[in-house]
Amino acid sequence: MNENVKASAVSDILGHAQSGNRIDENEALRLLNVRGSDFHKVLAVADTVRQERVGDDVSYVINRNINFTNICIGSCGFCAFSVRQDDPEAYFLPVDEVVKRAIEARQIGATEIGLFSGLHPAVDGNTYVEILQAVKAAVPDIHIHALSPAEVAYGADKLGISYVDMLKMLKRAGLDSMPGTAAEILVDDVRKTLCPQKIDTQTWTDIIVSAHRFGIPTTCTMMYGHIESYEDVVNHLKLLRTVQDETGGFTEFVPLTFIHYNTPIFRAGIARPGATGREDLLIYAVGRLYLDNIPNIQVSWVKLGTKFAQIALMCGANDLGGTLMEENITRSAGGTAGQSLTPNDFIRLITDLGRIPRVRDTLYRTLSC
Ligand code: SF4
Repeated sequence: MNENVKASAVSDILGHAQSGNRIDENEALRLLNVRGSDFHKVLAVADTVRQERVGDDVSYVINRNINFTNICIGSCGFCAFSVRQDDPEAYFLPVDEVVKRAIEARQIGATEIGLFSGLHPAVDGNTYVEILQAVKAAVPDIHIHALSPAEVAYGADKLGISYVDMLKMLKRAGLDSMPGTAAEILVDDVRKTLCPQKIDTQTWTDIIVSAHRFGIPTTCTMMYGHIESYEDVVNHLKLLRTVQDETGGFTEFVPLTFIHYNTPIFRAGIARPGATGREDLLIYAVGRLYLDNIPNIQVSWVKLGTKFAQIALMCGANDLGGTLMEENITRSAGGTAGQSLTPNDFIRLITDLGRIPRVRDTLYRTLSC
């Protein structure tokens, strides 16, 4: 393909997207491969489409993450957070401690707590129910955003019940929404190397669709920059767009760039050392252009760092995620962006771009400051 044909093809795709038409998988793949001046064009059009779709607000949520245990039976090659039970760093917070942290979070203005952890051998679905009930009883007005599809599957399997029954129990116990993590790359050939013991693509999809049908919204995520190809990225995005067409249950898309430093899969020479900056920005831009049915695209400042996160907001993203208060998973993998930001940190980054800071709840409703 000569350069002129390449250039016009990219312009055609961008024109197509800008006039509100859906781009297809081949077009998304073409955009992921751009370099040079085409790269800037893709980012600029994604920024324009973002502005047309969701305006100039940049939203964020005041929240606290609580990783109640780092003990995990899993062996995901990208994970530097999990440890075995006999590891000196192993911990398992008592329910009282989880509740105490949730109360502290509410007292300083958090509207959401995020609960995600390792798959502890002594945990089952009843443990999750107990934690949710205790937090909801102590802080009834806090939104509980908890339990990935992998944790839901684990809790259900340990009790010998269906995923739907597990979701019903969790919702009754106080689960308000779920993170669409454990998605990594939703291509089983990639998962066989990346996370061989984790739920497969179909199970992830079944749990997410069931959650949506049962009134539990979720985020959707994609961890990229390790062993996947651009074709795998497009297949992942295609699955997300198809699910969203069916259910409308995704609140946002959260690209998660692979932090490689301390991970087994990088140390073994299997994974590349994360995405390049070009790839990071194109994931945001192509995510904005391809996922025309998911309004919000969230930047992970923990993974990108605040300076690069700010740039991603100029390439299709419109949300900065949460203040977090404590963050352990990316830090374990070698991330250096920190564990917490204040609302003032967010406001500075957002207003510096000429955009409008907006405090939101987990479901993107505007809250007063
Ligand atoms: S990613 Fe989750 S399931 Fe996999 S090893 Fe880490 S804590 Fe365990």
